[in-house]
Amino acid sequence: MSNADAYRVRREPFYQAQDNEVAHYEAAYAARLPVMLKGPTGCGKSRFVEYMAWKLGKPLITVACNEDMTAADLVGRFLLDASGTHWQDGPLTLAARLGAICYLDEIVEARQDTLVVIHPLTDHRRTLPLDKKGEQVEAHADFQLVISYNPGYQSLMKDLKQSTKQRFTAFQFDYPEAALEVGIICQETAVDRNISEKLVEIAQAGRRLKGHGLDEGISTRLVVNAAALIGQGVAPADACRMAMVRPITDDADVIDTLDHAISAVF
Ligand code: ADP
Repeated sequence: MSNADAYRVRREPFYQAQDNEVAHYEAAYAARLPVMLKGPTGCGKSRFVEYMAWKLGKPLITVACNEDMTAADLVGRFLLDASGTHWQDGPLTLAARLGAICYLDEIVEARQDTLVVIHPLTDHRRTLPLDKKGEQVEAHADFQLVISYNPGYQSLMKDLKQSTKQRFTAFQFDYPEAALEVGIICQETAVDRNISEKLVEIAQAGRRLKGHGLDEGISTRLVVNAAALIGQGVAPADACRMAMVRPITDDADVIDTLDHAISAVF
């Protein structure tokens, strides 16, 4: 198995399109434009990239960004072992060499000084300088950079600079509309349509509390989790509390409001 094969998405991931994002992504890929996926957590951004990597037949290398991540974590570093030092490519360098789609998930978590390493890869240069190694990596023709970020978490400290933003094409994601979300839940889990509709109804009630006690709505991921618990025999109302309410808030009033919404439905 070649290196690139190790990163191939083998089975078609289930992805429910919300609009014409699949065709638009294909156009962005054909033009090798970097892509930014914006939207709340758990609304299908990562699943979309996986699906597109599968559809385009390209390897996918995913990096979950965090504030402790350094440029070396992305680019690579010299490692010391019994036989001396050797260079180890980081995930970004590996993706550039292999011609993979490199997906930097939750990019705003990374520090600004870390992020500048992506700049030369996202303009006409399509190169990655490995300063420590004294090498300039020319990105493979198939390489593409994709980042995700959640504008909801945005603060002045944690926002992308314009100089970074203005290198990307962007897709705006949101929770799927009710009928599509019901279909996603049925496809992802074994629950029947009737239960799925009720779960989505509760999720939508929760989303209306965003900005009124909730920082973020109840995501599709949490609805899938509730459905999975129901599939394991947990009573629906308990599953909703456990998967869709308790994880997202500690506010007693909001918990009370959501618990009432659940009791009204189940
Ligand atoms: P994020 O936006 O945080 O990257 P994910 O892509 O991981 O979210 O989505 C979370 C879960 O929600 C997925 O694992 C999948 O079960 C479900 N999901 C959300 N949107 C879709 C969609 N459009 N098609 C298929 N599954 C979806």
